[in-house]
Amino acid sequence: MSKIILVTGGAGYIGSHTVLQLLLGGYKAVVVDNLDNSSDVSIKRVKELAREYVNNLSFHQVDLRDRPAIEKIFAQTKFEAVIHFAGLKAVGESVSEPLLYHDNNVIGTVILLEVMSAHGCKNLIFSSSATVYGWPKEVPCTEEFPLTAVNPYGRTKCHLIISDMVGQLFVEEICRDLHNSDSKWKIILLRYFNPVGAHPSGHIGEDPRGTPNNLMPFVQQVAVGRRSALTVFGNDYSTKDGTGVRDYIHVVDLADGHIAALRKLSDPKIGCEVYNLGTGKGTSVLEMVSAFEKASGKKIPLKIVGRRPGDAEVVYASTKKAETELKWKAKYGIEEICRDQWNWASKNPYGYGSSHSK
Ligand code: NAD
Ligand code: UDP
Repeated sequence: MSKIILVTGGAGYIGSHTVLQLLLGGYKAVVVDNLDNSSDVSIKRVKELAREYVNNLSFHQVDLRDRPAIEKIFAQTKFEAVIHFAGLKAVGESVSEPLLYHDNNVIGTVILLEVMSAHGCKNLIFSSSATVYGWPKEVPCTEEFPLTAVNPYGRTKCHLIISDMVGQLFVEEICRDLHNSDSKWKIILLRYFNPVGAHPSGHIGEDPRGTPNNLMPFVQQVAVGRRSALTVFGNDYSTKDGTGVRDYIHVVDLADGHIAALRKLSDPKIGCEVYNLGTGKGTSVLEMVSAFEKASGKKIPLKIVGRRPGDAEVVYASTKKAETELKWKAKYGIEEICRDQWNWASKNPYGYGSSHSK
């Protein structure tokens, strides 16, 4: 019998890739998404890609905060585990609309956890982020690094950093408290580094609403002619070429990391555990742009401006814990990332074609 996994936010970027890997891995998936930042076209595309497993996926357009609707879904199905991606993630909006963000990301999670508990489903995988490391004192970042809401770049910028990662920090703390209160809870907190790229088919990928905050969706929109130039935030960092360095991880590798985490949940020794999902390699903005230009054959015009408030200089992961305990390691490098990102972008210059992506 296939195990059934509830995937919140499963229509979104990382969720859709993970749902596909779940189906191909023999799991059944039930997706809950309010489509606030996604389109049901992604669900249709995942079904096409899943071929013979197509009937193992069902979708509910439901908001996590709609407790009766979530209750009903749990009453109908016994879930092995929940993979919780649903959340809002636009940094700027989180600063201007903090209550919306707390309501959606924190209250939404609390409701989910309450319903899970009431139905005896106490296995959870949560999407956390490397932003919890702030501006790390050293690299690579290990899971033991202090969780920081303080950024040495300047206390005045703190509000930005805090809003960006507040959801993740709070939810991580809630999960730790929950496990301490009841050891039946088995929780894996996955700290993603920089998810990029798209499924090699080019049928699913990232389709951000409005102006992209992140580097690669922005580069992609310049390449297809939707924007005139990439704004590079700072070329005066102490890095190889002066631009910021990050750990870019292919979204399919990231999705596979969730399958590895699911397997780990059946380890009787697991409590509430944190794993970095990254590649362990740092790449600068200019290196990323150059790799994308090579993959796409498109020139990306650059406009160098000052540093973006709250940005760290260099962030990349220590991958040792995930490799040893999850038996998982990223397979793809930046060449494959850019190849697949361009394949998706050139086939879908306006993403899923929904009105928000135009
Ligand atoms: P995404 O916006 O593409 O996906 C999130 C999905 O959640 C969307 O489909 C959205 O419609 C849905 N959603 C939001 N609020 C909801 C609610 N209240 N009820 C039901 N559905 C809701 O984002 P993503 O890039 O796939 O990220 C997934 C998760 O991973 C997020 O929680 C994000 O904070 C976290 N994360 C993302 C990154 C990244 O760079 N993409 C990095 C670290 C962590
Ligand atoms: N960046 C940039 N221009 C952009 C978006 C991002 O120069 O339009 C830089 C940013 O300063 C950082 C890197 O690209 O050094 C990755 O930024 P992103 O927002 O994708 O990830 P994060 O900073 O959250 O790790």
